[in-house]
Amino acid sequence: MLQLHRRLLAATWLLSACAAGVAQPAEATLFQNVRIYDGKAASLSGPSHVLVRGGIIERISATPIAPPASATVVDGQGRTLMPGLIDNHWHTMFAAPPLGLILQGDLGYLTLLAAAEARATLMRGFTTVRDVGGPSFALKRAIDDGLVAGPRIYPSGAMITITGGHGDFRAPHELPRQLGGPPPIGGALNASQLADSPDEVRLRVREQLLLGASQIKLTAGGGVASPHSPLDASTFTEEELRAAVQAAGNWGTYVGVHAYTPEAIQRAVAAGVKVIEHGHLMDEASAKLIADKGIWLSFQPFVDDGFAPQMPPSSMARLRQIFAGTEAAVTLAKKHKLKLAWGTDVLFSAANATRQGALLVQMNQWFTPAEVLAMATSAGGELLTLSGPRNPYPGKLGVVEEGALADLLLVDGNPLENLKLIETPDKSFVLIMKGGAIYKNLLSR
Ligand SMILES: [Zn+2]
Repeated sequence: MLQLHRRLLAATWLLSACAAGVAQPAEATLFQNVRIYDGKAASLSGPSHVLVRGGIIERISATPIAPPASATVVDGQGRTLMPGLIDNHWHTMFAAPPLGLILQGDLGYLTLLAAAEARATLMRGFTTVRDVGGPSFALKRAIDDGLVAGPRIYPSGAMITITGGHGDFRAPHELPRQLGGPPPIGGALNASQLADSPDEVRLRVREQLLLGASQIKLTAGGGVASPHSPLDASTFTEEELRAAVQAAGNWGTYVGVHAYTPEAIQRAVAAGVKVIEHGHLMDEASAKLIADKGIWLSFQPFVDDGFAPQMPPSSMARLRQIFAGTEAAVTLAKKHKLKLAWGTDVLFSAANATRQGALLVQMNQWFTPAEVLAMATSAGGELLTLSGPRNPYPGKLGVVEEGALADLLLVDGNPLENLKLIETPDKSFVLIMKGGAIYKNLLSR
C-alpha cells in the first residue's frame, strides 16, 4: 500500500513537472558527429561522438559509439558542442524587476518573477549562475527538485553590508536601527543584511550558511545602485571582514566581496577574501596583490553602451566613475595575468537581462573569443569549486570531458570564429542540456 502510494506520488510529480514544461533526464543521449569546444582549447575538436548517461558525460570518441537501448540520438551534423555558460555574478531574484517593485517587499511575487527569469536564463544557454546577493534559496530548491526550469544556482543569500554601505536601501526615517527591532525591507526579504561589528558579521554569515549559502558575499566598499554609499568609502573594517572569512571557513567555504577601489581590495585581501567582485578602480599595487595571492577577479564589462537602467543622478555619477575605470582595470588584469572569471551583474532591468549573452560578447573588445569563452566556461567552473564541501553540485562544470556534468549547448556554427552566436541563443543554440536533461531541442521538430 505504501509502495502504491509512493508510485502515485511519483507519477503525480512527473505529470506536474511535465505540465510545467520541465525536462526529464533521458536514460542516455548520444550526440553523433559534433565538433567539441571543450571550454579550454582555442580550436574545435575533429568530428566526435559524445555519450551522456546519468547526467554525466560518459564517453567522448572520434569513432562512432553504438547507441545504448532507449538512448536519444542527436545527429549534430557537424555543429559545435560546448559547455553550458556560467555567469559568475548574477542576481537571480533582482536581475529583472525594477528596484521600486523589489522595495514593495512581496517575496512571493518576486520569486515567481524570478522563476520566469530563471527559465529565460537557461534558454539563453546559461546552465549555471553564481548568485551574489538575494533570497534565491527557494527558487534554487524548486529548480533542483525539477519543478521549475532554470540554471544551477550557487546561492550567497543576502549580501552582507554595514549601515550606510552598498546594499543598505533604508530611508532616513528608518533610522536609528533598534537592535532587536524589526528588520528593514532588505533584511525582511533577506536581500541584504546589516552588520556593524565582527559579532554581527558572524551572526549574519552563519544565518546565510544555515539557509544553504554556497559562498558568502560582503560589500567591502561603496556601490552604484545604493542610495548612500560613496564609491571611495571602505565599509567593513579588516577585523569585520576577517570575522566573515573565519565563519565561512569554519563551514568549508569562502567570502567574495564587492570592491572597486584599491583600499577596499587591499583590506579584503588582507582579511583572507578569495574573490574580488568588480575591481574596476584598482591600481597597479592592488592588481599585483590580487595576482600574488592567486585571488580571483570576477569581472563585468561595465561600459557606457546606453543600456544602464534608470537610476537617480548620484547613482549615474558613480556609474560614470566605474565606466572610466574599466579600460585601465582590464589592462592591469592582463598585465598581471589575473585569474579572471566573468559575470554580468544585471540588476533591475528585464530588458538588460535579455542581454546576458551580449554582455559576454562585449569582453571580445579586450580578449580573443577563445579567452572570452573560457572565462564563461572552464574558468567559471574552476572558481565555483572554491565552495568546497558547500558546493551544491559536486562534479566538473564548464568543460566537455569524460566524467564532467552534462551541461551542454549544441551551437549552429563555431563560436570561436563567430562569438556573436552567443547573442542570439534562440537561433544559435539548437539544443540546451542541463544535468543530462534536454530543455530545448530544435532538431527534434
Ligand atoms: Zn552584484
